Amino acid sequence: MRDKRIILCDADDTIENLCQIWVTYLNRMYGTTVHSSEIVDWNVSLFFPSLTKEQVYDPIFNKNFWKEINPIDGCYKVLEEINKRDELYIITATNYQTCDTKIERILEMYPFLKWSQFIITERKQLVYGDWLIDDGVHNFDGGVYKGILMSQPHNKNFNAEENGLIRVHGWDEISKILL
Ligand SMILES: [Mg+2]
Repeated sequence: MRDKRIILCDADDTIENLCQIWVTYLNRMYGTTVHSSEIVDWNVSLFFPSLTKEQVYDPIFNKNFWKEINPIDGCYKVLEEINKRDELYIITATNYQTCDTKIERILEMYPFLKWSQFIITERKQLVYGDWLIDDGVHNFDGGVYKGILMSQPHNKNFNAEENGLIRVHGWDEISKILL
């Protein structure tokens, strides 16, 4: 019998601040004045109507862009503790062109992780886990895991409870659930 739980944990906007860095990058590049709190839909291009979809998504395919991501507040200690107690995997739908830079940056931010703990897939539901921590509501649909929804502006109107998920607003709340 397994004694360790399998914890699956998303990367973007769960353990690192992709959205914030992305919006800052676009503002710097194109002189827009969008704030990450205004991104209330998964489709980021909706909030940059003066830009083409290609312009909005271009940074995601730029390796250097990924060097700018930073840890989410309060994540380090909780993730480190989960990593000690449980079997932890970082599960992310990263594009193949940038996954090396992104994983290198995440390993730099969280040096207790190993590259073998990364799973890259757009269909997280195919992976077995006891828990999934994620900000993308679509990743819970059909998964076998219990769900912890990391609150972000784009998912604020989603009824987590009605969909069997626990909504959290930070890593201190994740600590209370999992540790
Ligand atoms: Mg995410």
